[in-house]
Amino acid sequence: MAEHESQEFGKADFVLLDSVSLEEFMANLKLRFEKGRIYTYIGEVVVSVNPYRAMNIYGRDTIEQYKGRELYERPPHLFAIADAAYKAMKRRNKDTCIVISGESGAGKTEASKYIMQYIAAITNPGQRAEVERVKNMLLKSNCVLEAFGNAKTNRNDNSSRFGKYMDINFDFKGDPIGGHINNYLLEKSRVIFQQEGERSFHSFYQMVKGGSESLLRSLHVSKDPTAYSYIKVGGQVKVGYHRSISALTLCNVLVFLYLSPCDLSQGNLTFGVDGDTTLIENSKVVAVIGVLLATKEENVGKALLYRTVATGRDVIDKQHTTQEASYGRDALAKAMYERMFCWIVGRINDVIEVKNYDAKVHGKNTVIGVLDIYGFEIFQNNSFEQFCINYCNEKLQQLFIQLVLRQEQEEYQREGIPWKHIDYFNNQIIVDLVELQHKGIFSVLDEACMTVGKVTDEVFLQGLNSKLAKHAHYTSRKLSPTDKSLEFDRDFRIRHYAGDVVYSVVGFIDKNKDTLFQDFKRLLYNSSNPVLKMMWPEGKLSITEVTKRPLTAATLFKNSMIALVENLACKEPYYVRCIKPNDVKSPLLFEYERCRHQVEYLGLLENVRVRRAGFANRQEYPRFLQRYKMISEFTWPNHDLPSDKEAVKRLVQGCGFEHDVAYGKTKVFVRTPRTLFCLEEQRDEMV
Ligand code: ADP
Ligand code: MG
Repeated sequence: MAEHESQEFGKADFVLLDSVSLEEFMANLKLRFEKGRIYTYIGEVVVSVNPYRAMNIYGRDTIEQYKGRELYERPPHLFAIADAAYKAMKRRNKDTCIVISGESGAGKTEASKYIMQYIAAITNPGQRAEVERVKNMLLKSNCVLEAFGNAKTNRNDNSSRFGKYMDINFDFKGDPIGGHINNYLLEKSRVIFQQEGERSFHSFYQMVKGGSESLLRSLHVSKDPTAYSYIKVGGQVKVGYHRSISALTLCNVLVFLYLSPCDLSQGNLTFGVDGDTTLIENSKVVAVIGVLLATKEENVGKALLYRTVATGRDVIDKQHTTQEASYGRDALAKAMYERMFCWIVGRINDVIEVKNYDAKVHGKNTVIGVLDIYGFEIFQNNSFEQFCINYCNEKLQQLFIQLVLRQEQEEYQREGIPWKHIDYFNNQIIVDLVELQHKGIFSVLDEACMTVGKVTDEVFLQGLNSKLAKHAHYTSRKLSPTDKSLEFDRDFRIRHYAGDVVYSVVGFIDKNKDTLFQDFKRLLYNSSNPVLKMMWPEGKLSITEVTKRPLTAATLFKNSMIALVENLACKEPYYVRCIKPNDVKSPLLFEYERCRHQVEYLGLLENVRVRRAGFANRQEYPRFLQRYKMISEFTWPNHDLPSDKEAVKRLVQGCGFEHDVAYGKTKVFVRTPRTLFCLEEQRDEMV
C-alpha cells in the first residue's frame, strides 16, 4: 500500500477525514507532524507545518519521484503542487500562481525556495545555455534579496522584511526564459531602530564583519558594528559575507558599497545648539558622507540643518531645530536604504527579464507566479506597519474566498447541481473598512494628513471615531470606555478575520506622510555618482516647482495591493498554507492552541467542507467528449445522441462512473480525482 493511503501517518488529505470537525482536523495535523509528515492536502491546497529541522525530502531523488506525476500518486509535498502548477501551465497554456501564506516563521520563504528549486530542476532537459543562465539568476536573486531585505527578528532568524512576488516566464517548451520580481513595503524603519534581541538588515553586518580591510578603509567603515548607533543592538551575531558578495557581483549590484556605509555614518550624526543656531556636533562624519555620496561636504551639512521653504514669492532657508534635524537624518537613512533596495530589485529584473522572445514566432509565453508575503501580525504594540500587513492579509483572504470558496459554490448554483451551501465568513466588510474611498481608514488617515497646520495622531483618531462609530469591526477606547483590551486613549481595535488587533495611532501620521525634505532629494540628485542621481529623479525640481504632494505611504501600499490581487485573480491559483507549530523553534513541540488558532484564521476547516462537498474537476461537455470520446463505442468517432450532454452520460455509464459524476447545465462534474485518472488511463490505451 502506498504510504499516503496508510493510516499510521494519518490522512494525507483532510478531505478524507471521517467527519469534519476542528478536533479531527487538529488530531490529524498533530499526528502527521509527530510522524514527520509535514505536508497534508486539502484537495489542491498544501497545508505545511514548519518542521524546524532538516528534512531529507528535497533531494534529487525526491524531485524525480514527483516529476510529471498527478497529485494523488505520491505523498503530499510542495513538489506536487509545483508540478501541478507547472503542468497546468504547460498543458493548458494557463498562467498559474502559487500563493504562500502564514505568519512570520511559518516557513513561507523556505517553501518558495523549494518550489523554485523544483521548477529549476525539472526544466530545460535540453540544457540550453540561455535557459541555464536564467535559472541560475532566478535562484541567485534570492540570495541578494535576503542579504538586503531579511533580518533576524525575535520570531525568525532570517525573517523577510518585505513582501515578494516573482513571476517566472516560460516558453512554449515549458522552459524558463525570464522573470520579474515585485517587492512590497520594505520595513525600512529597521534601518534606524531594532527591538531588543533583533537586528538590522543582514547586509550591514555582512559588510562590517565580512568586508576586507582595504574595502572597509576605502569606505570609511569600522569593523566594529557597535561603533554604529543604528546597528549596535544586534551587532554581536556572526554571519557569512562571501556568499552574498559573490551573488552581488553576479547581479552587478554594488551601490550598497556607498549607500550602506553612508547610512551607518549618518546614524552617528548628532545635533546640538549654540544660542539660536543648530549645529552638527561631529563634523568629521559629514565629510565622510560627502565622500560617499559624491557631493560637497558643505551641501551635506546644509541639507541636514536647513530646509528651503517658499513663502509667497520668496524662497528662504529655514533652520531645523535639533529635533527636526534628527528626524531628517533618520528619514534620509531610511529613504536611501529603501531606494537602494528597490534599485537592486530593478537591476535583478534587468538581468532576468525576458529577452528576444517573439510571441508571434514562439507562441504565448506563460507564467508561474510565486507569492511570499508577510503573514498576519499581532504584536504587543501594533502600529502602521502591522496595520498595512494585516490589511494585505485581508486582501489575500478575500481573494481566497473568491477563488476557492465562492466561485466554487456559485458555479454549482449556476450549473444547477444540487448543493448545500457552506457558510464561511466573508471578510469583504473588513477590506472595505480599510480601503473604501472616503469612508475607509486609509481615507480618514490621508484626510488627516492633508489638514493644514499641526496634525496629530489624535486628530486622526477623532476622524476614525466620528466616521466609524457604528462599524461592527471597529471600536476605540472612546467608543467603548469599559473595554479592558483598549488600554490607552490612543488605541483602536479592528476585528480582523484572523482575530482582534489593537493598534496604537502613535506614529500613523508621520509614517503615512513619510516626509523626506526636498533638500535631501536635491542633494542626492546633484551627486556626481550617476547611479545615485538616477535613484532620485524628483530631486531635479526646485522648491517652487514642487507642487504635487507625493502619494502617502498608505495610498501607495493600497494601490500596490490592489494591483497584486488583480494580477493573482487572473491566474489559476495554488495555495500553500504554512503553520508555525510553536514559538521556540522546536522540532518536537506541537503547541495545540497556537496551531488551532492558525487553522481557524486560515479558514482551513471551511476549505475542507467546501472541498468535500465539491467536485475535483469540471469540464464543458464538448471538451470532455473531445478528450474521451475514443473510450466508448457510442461516441467514437461521432455520436448520434440529441446532445453532447446525453453523449457524455452514455460514455460515463459505460465506464461505470455514474456514482461519481454530476451533470450540470453546461458542464460535467467529476467528484474524485481517481475517476479522472481511470479515464485518462483508458484513453491512453486507445490512442
Ligand atoms: P517565513 O518566511 O514564513 O517567515 P521561513 O521560511 O524564513 O519563515 O522559515 C523560518 C525558519 O524555519 C527557517 O529559517 C528554517 O530554519 C525553518 N524552516 C522552515 N521551513 C523549513 C523546512 N521545510 N525544513 C526545515 N526547516 C524549515
Ligand atoms: Mg519569509
